[in-house]
Amino acid sequence: MKSIEPVIRERAYHIRQVWTDVDGVLTPQGTLAIYDVLYSGSHVAFESRDGLCVTRLVPCDEYGRPLSNSIEYFAGYPGAQIMEGYRFDTRDGMVVKYLVEAGVPVYFISGRDSPCVRARASALGAVPLLGARDKLAVMQEHATCSLDEILFIGDGIQDCDALRATGISVAPADAAPEAVLAAQGVTHAVGGSGVLSEVATYFMKARGMWPE
Ligand SMILES: [Mg+2]
Repeated sequence: MKSIEPVIRERAYHIRQVWTDVDGVLTPQGTLAIYDVLYSGSHVAFESRDGLCVTRLVPCDEYGRPLSNSIEYFAGYPGAQIMEGYRFDTRDGMVVKYLVEAGVPVYFISGRDSPCVRARASALGAVPLLGARDKLAVMQEHATCSLDEILFIGDGIQDCDALRATGISVAPADAAPEAVLAAQGVTHAVGGSGVLSEVATYFMKARGMWPE
């Protein structure tokens, strides 16, 4: 396994933006849930937020203590019959906020246009670039720095071009073998279990941004 920590330690000072794929990186592999609201919508209280119908759930024990580091989003576009459910890691959310506040923009780039991902990005201050079929092309269009100044995390075959083109490229431990080969290093964490948090921790320590 190629450790990503030494790569980040060596190159962190060149990085100006953090870009991450969503499915399989910020979420566990294969856990997207789709709900037909004709049957399930009445069971969950949705609120209107940023033009979306959204609710957020944190699984807790009987004393209200969170059971894990997860937060679950259920969201849909107004009037759509289909709602989606996504599970995110709260540790990833905290580092997104921290990076953005420290002046390092974070982009969520995904082939899917998911209302859950849009809502999550909005809550954290990340930039959502969704429905991105060709991630490298979207990156070239929207990045306000050179590709060499981007740290990118991706887990799929469709991420390989961007993984090869960016300054620091990372794959989660359970990424597709092609992505692992294309990336400069691999995290200990698997998708949806703190991949971004692990990467950001190395990054912030290397940059002297780590809160003591
Ligand atoms: Mg993916």
